[in-house]
Amino acid sequence: TPQAGAAILGQPNQLFVLFFTEMWERFSYYGMRGLLVLFLVSEAAKGGWGWTRAEATSLYGWYTGMAYLLPVLGGYLADRYLGTRRAVLFGGFVIAAGHISMFLNTVPSFYIGLGLVVLGTGLFKPNVSAIVGQLYGPKEDNARDGGYTLFYMGVNAGAFFGILLCGYIGEKVSWHLGFGLAGLFMILGALQFYFSQHLFGDIGAPPKAEDRAKVAAAAAAEEAPAHVVADRLKAIFVFSFFTIFFWFAFEQAGGSMTIFAADYTDRTLVGTSGFAFKVVNSLMTVLPALILTWLLWKLNRSTGSRYLLANTLLGLAFAVIWGLVIWMLAREFALEQSEVPASWFGVLNSFFLVILAPMFSKMWERHWNPAGPVKFGVGLVLLGLGFAALSYGSAGIPTGAKTAQVSMIYLSLAYLLHTMGELCLSPVGLSYISKLAPARLLGLMFGVWFLNTAIANKLAGVTGSYIDEISNQYSMSIFFMIFTAIPIGAGVVLMLLTPWMKKKMHGVH
Ligand code: GLN
Repeated sequence: TPQAGAAILGQPNQLFVLFFTEMWERFSYYGMRGLLVLFLVSEAAKGGWGWTRAEATSLYGWYTGMAYLLPVLGGYLADRYLGTRRAVLFGGFVIAAGHISMFLNTVPSFYIGLGLVVLGTGLFKPNVSAIVGQLYGPKEDNARDGGYTLFYMGVNAGAFFGILLCGYIGEKVSWHLGFGLAGLFMILGALQFYFSQHLFGDIGAPPKAEDRAKVAAAAAAEEAPAHVVADRLKAIFVFSFFTIFFWFAFEQAGGSMTIFAADYTDRTLVGTSGFAFKVVNSLMTVLPALILTWLLWKLNRSTGSRYLLANTLLGLAFAVIWGLVIWMLAREFALEQSEVPASWFGVLNSFFLVILAPMFSKMWERHWNPAGPVKFGVGLVLLGLGFAALSYGSAGIPTGAKTAQVSMIYLSLAYLLHTMGELCLSPVGLSYISKLAPARLLGLMFGVWFLNTAIANKLAGVTGSYIDEISNQYSMSIFFMIFTAIPIGAGVVLMLLTPWMKKKMHGVH
C-alpha cells in the first residue's frame, strides 16, 4: 500500500527520502547557479572568464530557461516509458556528470557540463515532484498538501546550503571546487535514492513495455469521465498561468532586491553588533542544519537497518555539511566584521522557508485549508505586500540617487512576506497538479507547471532592463509600487475565479 512503512510527522517515510533527494538536487542547482554569473564575469587573474555582465546574464538566462523548459520533455518520457522513479535516478546521475564536467576546468567541458545539468534537470525536476503525489491516496488531500509543503522545505533547504556553501567555497577558495561540491552532493543524493528503492514498491515504477496497452486501458477505466478530465486540465492551466505573475515578480525581486541591498540599505554595524551579527549569522546557519539532522535521524529510525547504505550516504553528506558550516563560521569569526554582506539577504528567502514550512504544513493539515484559488490569491497578495514594504521604505530616496541609508528592516520584511506568499502558492500548486492530473499525464503536467516558470523568467529578463530606465526617471518607490500592483491584481482576479475553479475541479479540494 502507498502508506507502507513508518510515518514521520504524520507523513509516509518515503516522503523524506524524496525530501533529501530533491534537497541535494536543489543544492547543486542553486549552488551552481549562484556561482555561474560571478565566475563568468570575474577576471582571468581571479580564475574567471572575464565576460561582460550582459554576456554572463544572457547565458544565465538561457541556462535557467532551458532547465525549466525541458521538464515538459522529461515528464512526457516518464509518463510514456521510464516511470517517474527511473527518470529521477537517471536525471540525478546526468546532473552529477554535468557538475563533474564543469569541475574539470576546461572550456568545452564547462559547456558540456551545463548541457548535461539542463538535460538531467529536465528528467529529474518534474518527476521527483510527481512521485510525491503518488504516495497519497485520493482521499488524503490534507496530508498531501502538508506533504508537498514539507517537500518544498527540502527544495529550499537545498537552495539554502547550496547558495551558502557553494557560494562561499566558489568565491573564497576556487570556482571549480564550488562546482565540484555541487556535483559531490548530487552523486550522494542520487545514490541514496537508488539504495532506498525498496521502500517504494510499485510507486513510480515504469509502465511495462509489453503490456503498455493493458496498463493504459486499466488507467482509462479508473479515470474520471472525459469531460471531468478536460475540466480538471483547464484548472491546471489556470493555476499554472497565474504562477507566471508570481515568478515574474519574484524573479524581478531577486535582482532588484539584491541591488537594493547593496546600494540603498544601511548595513553598517557599530560597537559590539559585529559580534551580535556573527551570532545571528551562526544561528541562521545552524538552525536549518539542526532541523534537517533531526529529520535525518527520524528517517533512519523509521526505515531501519535494511537501508543502512542509503542512510550512511545521507549521514556522510550531513557530516560534510556540518564540517563545512563549522569551518565557514570559524573563518568568519576570525574576521573583523562591521557590515552585513549584501549577499546575506539572498539566503533569507530559503532560510525563512525552511523555518516556516513545518508551520504551514501543520496549518493546512489541522487548522485552515481553504480552496486552492484562495490560497493562490493570498500568496500573490503577500508577494505584492512585500513589494509594498519596499516601496514604503524607499519613499525617501530621491529619484536617480545611487546610494541611500534605508533600514534593513524593510528588506527583511519583504523577504518574510515573499516567503509566506511562496508557501501559499508554490507547494500548493504542486499538490493541485498531483490531484487534478490523470495518472497517465502526471509527469507532463508537472512539466507544464515548470514551463510557466521558464516563461516568467524570460519575461522578467526582458522587462528587467526596461524597468531599470523607469526607475532612473521616476523613483525606486514607484518601481516597487508597480510590483505591488501586478501580483495583488492577479491574486484578486484568481480569488474571484474561485467558484468557477471549484466547478472545473469537480470535487478536488
Ligand atoms: N524554488 C522552487 C524550486 O526550485 C521554484 C520552482 C518554480 O516553480 N519556479 O523548486
